[in-house]
Amino acid sequence: MDKYSNFKLKIEAKPSLFHGRTVRKAVGQSLWYRIRDYILQKDTPVCSICGFSPQQDEMWNLHLHEIEHYDFENIVVKLSGLNLICANCHAFHHFGFTQLYSSKEKMERLIEHFVKVNECEINDFKECRKSLLFRRHSSSEVESKKTKSNLSFQEILAGNYTVRYAIIGDIPFKDEVIEKLNKKGVYYQYK
Ligand SMILES: [Zn+2]
Ligand SMILES: [Zn+2]
Repeated sequence: MDKYSNFKLKIEAKPSLFHGRTVRKAVGQSLWYRIRDYILQKDTPVCSICGFSPQQDEMWNLHLHEIEHYDFENIVVKLSGLNLICANCHAFHHFGFTQLYSSKEKMERLIEHFVKVNECEINDFKECRKSLLFRRHSSSEVESKKTKSNLSFQEILAGNYTVRYAIIGDIPFKDEVIEKLNKKGVYYQYK
């Protein structure tokens, strides 16, 4: 039914409850860079969405996107895998953030990328953006009610709650990641 469902590049945004909360931040830079290096050495470094292949000195253009699922009830980010994608494609996976922090020129370049990758029209981009807004209508307030603790909207804005993390897929250095999360008291184990 949705003609956009087979677009290679989709527009997504992270639920407000989990804004800024990632395994990457929780485990810290040095472990994260080791994971990234490991994946870069193992795979051919290309964007798994658009196929962009950076020069050796442009590797920073490839990001590790965390494939996440969300458990609202227990406030848990479930990491199921890592996806190597270019900075331009990545911007569409965190589109709420991108819209807030991108200049007009940057947005124009990103839209060009979207149109090229999906071989579509600018209008298709606008439709996709609209549907994201629509999906996000059920924002913080609704999300808060799904939690066991019934966080208030204010508490969510203030970020006054603990997000925990579960690793439900295979990632490099998984044991170390779990150990690190455990040490910080933010690991969540599903029975
Ligand atoms: Zn890409
Ligand atoms: Zn990402």
